[in-house]
Amino acid sequence: MGIKVNCLSCGHPMELSDAYDDYEGEVRCWGCRAVLEVTLHEGKLQRMRLATGEPAPRRNDSETSNLRAPGAPVSL
Ligand SMILES: [Zn+2]
Repeated sequence: MGIKVNCLSCGHPMELSDAYDDYEGEVRCWGCRAVLEVTLHEGKLQRMRLATGEPAPRRNDSETSNLRAPGAPVSL
């Protein structure tokens, strides 16, 4: 008895084996190769979302804001 889910990106149906009854992590869609982050507990899907592949987009923001103040005096 597997767990049936649909890819959030392309809707491709996927069946996860019993090994995923209690699983938290990523699965890859066979259809569009999107990476889905799933949380399963006792064979039931608790949470599913599309993984973007960008671990920390915020880092770019802080780097950008640092670069935005060229020559600014650092008072720390
Ligand atoms: Zn897909």
